[in-house]
Amino acid sequence: LTNSLEAAWSKLRKEDVLTRENIKEPMQDVRRALLEADVSLPVVRRFVKSVSEKAVGTGVIRGVRPDQQLIKVVNDELVSLMGGEMVGLEFSKTKGTPTVILMAGLQGVGKTTACGKLALYCKKKSKSCMMVATDVYRPAAIDQLVTLGKQVDVPVFEAGNQIRPAEIAKRGLAEAKKKGVEVVIVDTAGRLQVDRGMMDELKQIKQVVNATEVLLVVDAMTGQEAAKLVASFNLEVGITGAILTKLDGDSRGGAALSVKEVSGKPIKFVGEGEGMNALEPFYPNRMASRILGMGDVLTFVEKAEEVMLKEDAEEMQRRILEAKFDFNDFLKQSRNLARMGSMGGLVKLIPGMNKVTPQQIREAEKSLKITESMINSMTPKERADPELLAKSPSRRRRVALGSGRTQEQVSALVSQIFQMRVRMKNLATMMQGGSIPGLEGLDDPLNG
Ligand code: GDP
Ligand code: MG
Repeated sequence: LTNSLEAAWSKLRKEDVLTRENIKEPMQDVRRALLEADVSLPVVRRFVKSVSEKAVGTGVIRGVRPDQQLIKVVNDELVSLMGGEMVGLEFSKTKGTPTVILMAGLQGVGKTTACGKLALYCKKKSKSCMMVATDVYRPAAIDQLVTLGKQVDVPVFEAGNQIRPAEIAKRGLAEAKKKGVEVVIVDTAGRLQVDRGMMDELKQIKQVVNATEVLLVVDAMTGQEAAKLVASFNLEVGITGAILTKLDGDSRGGAALSVKEVSGKPIKFVGEGEGMNALEPFYPNRMASRILGMGDVLTFVEKAEEVMLKEDAEEMQRRILEAKFDFNDFLKQSRNLARMGSMGGLVKLIPGMNKVTPQQIREAEKSLKITESMINSMTPKERADPELLAKSPSRRRRVALGSGRTQEQVSALVSQIFQMRVRMKNLATMMQGGSIPGLEGLDDPLNG
């Protein structure tokens, strides 16, 4: 935040409720910050509107300053606009069919460099990899990829520049299949501007290789133009995600905000240098602070979250002791976990849990998502009273249908909540120094 505007924020400190009036000046400040970060104007407008609507009328939480609370709303909205959580690469689910990653983007944005980086990334994940050179226009493009291939020790398939790109890609994929390569990364030719030839070429390649991922490479310096660019690539070719490059420069990275907003697709990686190691997964929360240009925002936000979590935790503990823990609590708890950072980070903090593999964490996150989908298909009454589902097979069937899960999965979840009640109550009682109570009334009605 700029110094001159600190006054606007400090005025807010004395208020108890956020109103349209008292957030006006601070929101102007946010608007300016976003424009300075090169977020495109329509995106800024929509953002400011939606944040204002969310903020107005929120009572300020005990122990949190009103200005901090507003920043938190802004930050959360930014994070959610960028997809909320980190999204990794999608891999092919069919055995014997390699994952194919197709790079798209204008000339000079860093596609070829990103190919090399991704190849190294996949190699580190113990996946065999191959790159395919289809940029037949720029004289040195093939050599550039071959050189990068040598650097990261990944083979490069090339067929000169006399064959159509789609045909090269097809041959490259055939070669990869023959060799049993797991990941094929296809480099393509960019143009200085969006044009028909490039889009048609990309479409053809995408189709021929049946791409698992089509990653749009966007230069972070693109600024205001990013929204249009993303829209046209997504419309013409269909992208599955993006890589934001050159974040090691001065750009505040406002382009990041446009990608998800415009295409609905996540940024998956960021490039932070020319070296092959300079590739990082994209974390929306880190990007949000960068875009706002407020280094200390995070401490604010963390503080606010701490207070909210503490209040939630106290309420939760009360419900646990009364064995009232229901599906709403379940949801709230898993969201709190998500709020506290990715499970990966959290798990490391738990003693004895540091041997958990990334694979296990992914499984856990996946099963949490499945659970959430089932809870989302429950009525409010059912969420508050798990007995309803325990007693009624037809309710369980409806939830299964609604969430696209099996009835067995729903039954398992219902059993689980009763088991959790027992276990949590025992744990809570033990921690309070009491003895373990009898379990009457807490049995699992489905299995008891
Ligand atoms: P392409 O035309 O899209 O294939 O772009 P290139 O991969 O050839 O990259 C163009 C230039 O940008 C090269 O000089 C790269 O070294 C540089 N470059 C690519 N990614 C990054 C990055 O993340 N940071 C910086 N500073 N430079 C990058
Ligand atoms: Mg290139």
